[in-house]
Amino acid sequence: MIVLIVCLFFAGLNQSSAQELILSGEAKPGNLMLGYAPNSESVYLDTIKLGVDKGVFLFGFDRDETGTHYIKVKLKNGKSILKKIDLRERKYKIQRINKIKKKFVTPPESALKRIEQERKVLKSAREKIGKTDTAYYLEGFIRPVKGGRVTSVFGSQRILNGVPKNPHNGLDIALPKGTPVYATTGGIVRLAGKNFYYNGNFVLIDHGQGLSSIYLHLSKILVKEGDRVKKGGKIGEIGTTGRSTGPHLHWGVQWFGKRIDPVSLLNLKFAPVLKNINRLSQTN
Ligand SMILES: [Zn+2]
Repeated sequence: MIVLIVCLFFAGLNQSSAQELILSGEAKPGNLMLGYAPNSESVYLDTIKLGVDKGVFLFGFDRDETGTHYIKVKLKNGKSILKKIDLRERKYKIQRINKIKKKFVTPPESALKRIEQERKVLKSAREKIGKTDTAYYLEGFIRPVKGGRVTSVFGSQRILNGVPKNPHNGLDIALPKGTPVYATTGGIVRLAGKNFYYNGNFVLIDHGQGLSSIYLHLSKILVKEGDRVKKGGKIGEIGTTGRSTGPHLHWGVQWFGKRIDPVSLLNLKFAPVLKNINRLSQTN
């Protein structure tokens, strides 16, 4: 009988503390994680205060980030929860690509001014991201294309025509020109870039709380700056514009400038969070 009482007590305790903080996602470099703390006053990742919407928040770790990190949740009742996250070093592939046109490996002098101008345009669009705590991503994430062959994964160290370059900060999926490209989740279009030297035609979407996604090398763009897009809304079509060796989508994700593996978005579990939000909104 005593054993039974003890078990019930612990079961009750686990349940209440589990509801105070739910984390989803695998803690490793380059991954995005989802958090839910319905009774939170504030949430911190180390010293960074996170945006929170209906108790829901996001955080991520850069491709090369390691070490010990803490999620600290201050509850409305004055208590706090501390969750420790240990990141182990992640190994990335080395990818050699030898078919790239010389002008894209080392751009000619004549293109430098244009590249610099385009860099500034993208930078100023990125500066608009991270200013809203609204979780436009609440419906969860989808792969932005149906099918296709993954030709380059996130994080690969790239050697283009024998020259070491920056790592690959996205996921490449090869598909025929004209294949629809969909928004991975809801958000606001911050830039619809036309014919950029490296990116070609592309779309940059702000999902709130510092999260953004980018879709490069499109043949067609179907949205414009300021548009509110929904999860699965058609934003463009596959192409091979900019630095590209054939029709494919480069899907990139960032969280406050940190390079995030897009695949990690697809592993986040929204169902328990949404279920609780719905339950709370019904009782309120
Ligand atoms: Zn790519």
